[in-house]
Amino acid sequence: MEKKEKKRHYKNVDFEANLTTASGGLPLTEAAPLWRFSHFGVEMDGDFKHCHLCHSRMKLWIAIWNTANGVVLFIGHDCYDKLVSFLATKKLESLSLGSRKEYVSAIKKYCKQNITESFLAWFGEQEAPAELKATLAFIEKFGYAPTLEAAEALVAYYKTTRRFKLDELLDYTSHRARMLSMLFRDFLADNPLWQEVSLAEYEALDFSFADGLSGEEVGEGFFKEAFRKVLPAGTSATSCFLNGEAMKSWIENARNVKSAVIEEAWKRAVVDLQQRIASQQESYRLLSFWRGRNPKHQTDQWECRDGGRKYVLDSACHYNPSEGPVFCRVTRELVPDRVLLVSKLVLAPSMESPRYMWVTR
Ligand SMILES: [Zn+2]
Repeated sequence: MEKKEKKRHYKNVDFEANLTTASGGLPLTEAAPLWRFSHFGVEMDGDFKHCHLCHSRMKLWIAIWNTANGVVLFIGHDCYDKLVSFLATKKLESLSLGSRKEYVSAIKKYCKQNITESFLAWFGEQEAPAELKATLAFIEKFGYAPTLEAAEALVAYYKTTRRFKLDELLDYTSHRARMLSMLFRDFLADNPLWQEVSLAEYEALDFSFADGLSGEEVGEGFFKEAFRKVLPAGTSATSCFLNGEAMKSWIENARNVKSAVIEEAWKRAVVDLQQRIASQQESYRLLSFWRGRNPKHQTDQWECRDGGRKYVLDSACHYNPSEGPVFCRVTRELVPDRVLLVSKLVLAPSMESPRYMWVTR
């Protein structure tokens, strides 16, 4: 008996003795399956722990816990691997302890997907809870979190605490983001896209209403003007924006109001012209043209006579006799006080919609 004992490495003896003791005295084959992985750990700044199973000094360790009695052991990576291989070679039905590599790779994968440099930089400036700070210190040293749960806790804190402007979170190349930025471009003081939200809040928002908008519609001044006019009373653009249903009805109302805005703009343009005519009566005429001939160049031209004067339509303007009398503005005297060059005035949507302006055409 004594000889056999001597053959075994003292670390294996300690391993078995300590694990069975911690498992309430059960034999190793019954004790080993009771243990579960808890978390990775590290000793900082020259400190070290002793492995609870083999007493080796260790800086990196793993906590495992006993499902039967709740005992927690801090053990070295070697002892952890030894336990895993014992379970495997005994051909137990299922491996209750995953290999250390398995745990590390799951944690690393999660960290790589969720914990970015900007994430860590932001945390550096936060008064975060102590356990999160400990997780961060571990990540800074090893590049991954001690447990998946610790990484998830860090990500959850980040998602609910860090705030971003909405327009930073929208994928600016998407149709949705382009429509929204066009729609609110003129909301200088209270652009809803400048509202700050957390990532968790952002994930809960529904911007699908923007998918049904077209660039033509949103870029058009008459629609934008209607959109501004029908902001529900007592609400801010931002509060509507954050509620997908409110936003949908806002847009629907704007579509209904658009024709009234166009009509109003038309009337305003007519009144503007009437005021201009009243103040400069000599410059405006209501004229019907007929085909004539330019005596000097022998080219066709639209012309007419009125009040002892001859009016010639600028060759850049289009005219059709079916239009009847059209508004014209005198642009130049061809023969002083006798022959005048005129341009036809047409009401057209201005570049700065929602207005109409009189253009020569
Ligand atoms: Zn050990």
